Amino acid sequence: MKKIAVFTSGGDAPGMNACVRAAVRSAIYNGVEVVGIIRGYKGMIEGDFQPLSSHSVSNIIQKGGTILKSARCEEFKTKEGRAKAYDQLVKNGIEGLIAIGGDGSFTGADLFLKDFDIPTIGCPGTIDNDLYGTDYTIGFDTAVNTALDAIDKIRDTADSHDRVFMIEVMGRNSGYIAVQSGIGGGAELVMIPEYQTTSEEVIHALSKGKENKKASSIVVVAEGKVAGRVHDIAKDVKEALPHFDIRVSTLGHIQRGGKPSALDRILASRMGVAAAEALLNGRKNEMVGIIDDKIVFTPFSDAISKSKPLNDDLVKMVNVLSI
Ligand code: ATP
Repeated sequence: MKKIAVFTSGGDAPGMNACVRAAVRSAIYNGVEVVGIIRGYKGMIEGDFQPLSSHSVSNIIQKGGTILKSARCEEFKTKEGRAKAYDQLVKNGIEGLIAIGGDGSFTGADLFLKDFDIPTIGCPGTIDNDLYGTDYTIGFDTAVNTALDAIDKIRDTADSHDRVFMIEVMGRNSGYIAVQSGIGGGAELVMIPEYQTTSEEVIHALSKGKENKKASSIVVVAEGKVAGRVHDIAKDVKEALPHFDIRVSTLGHIQRGGKPSALDRILASRMGVAAAEALLNGRKNEMVGIIDDKIVFTPFSDAISKSKPLNDDLVKMVNVLSI
């Protein structure tokens, strides 16, 4: 391979820039030219390519978001859209791709190889940590730390006013962010999509906290399947425990932004280097992952379709630690 392209796709995640930098520098180190595709598959279809030198990825390792921008692109879901993208790659002499994104991005890449034989290696870039084939995804650690910082601040005000706060964190259909930020933030209860928590269980946990003379209580609620229910549950609790002062807080998009943590920068750098080397060594349509501190590769088909179970011990620990 003489020339490859790197792009970010789907939701942005802190650490994507560190991954771009690592992939670009690793390819250049191995004598290969690199271009960046602006706005993922949309830019691929439109031919929005930018040559990247080692210098063009200087001073980005510490930046949140993605310098290559990201976009959702419906047109790439059609064969005609993918044909346009392929024409642009051929026109620009691009022989392989590094995709930094989530399951949707890898689904697109898998179809692209089947239609047009363009090899892709993926790096898992999503704050949700919901991809099979890696212990952690790029952006997850930073998102947990951001959520934790917000939970700590909310705890200060909750404690001062003897309040209960239900805090909704991101994670879509995965409870990873909720469980980790719940443990780190000393939450009394965590509600995640993987387990159905009833209003009665919430009421029981909060009453127990009151009996144990807790001044404040924090319930961390994952979005996803529980989305929208947080206000209903808060209403049920209010009815059952009218003397409780309950507030709901949704953390939202702050969890996507900010400087990547040390862990994310290092994870992203390792994955970016591994992705470039794998692509140049002829691997294709696999996602780079790190399991037990070792680089591993998982076919896109598995990374997309297999579910990544939560660690039950962590879930149980929330109950133990909230007495
Ligand atoms: P995140 O986990 O942050 O949402 P993602 O990669 O899953 O990231 P998506 O929006 O699902 O984000 O997908 C990104 C892009 O991948 C889509 O905008 C689309 O261009 C492409 N894509 C997704 N699904 C398909 C599909 N079934 N066929 C072809 N392309 C797809």
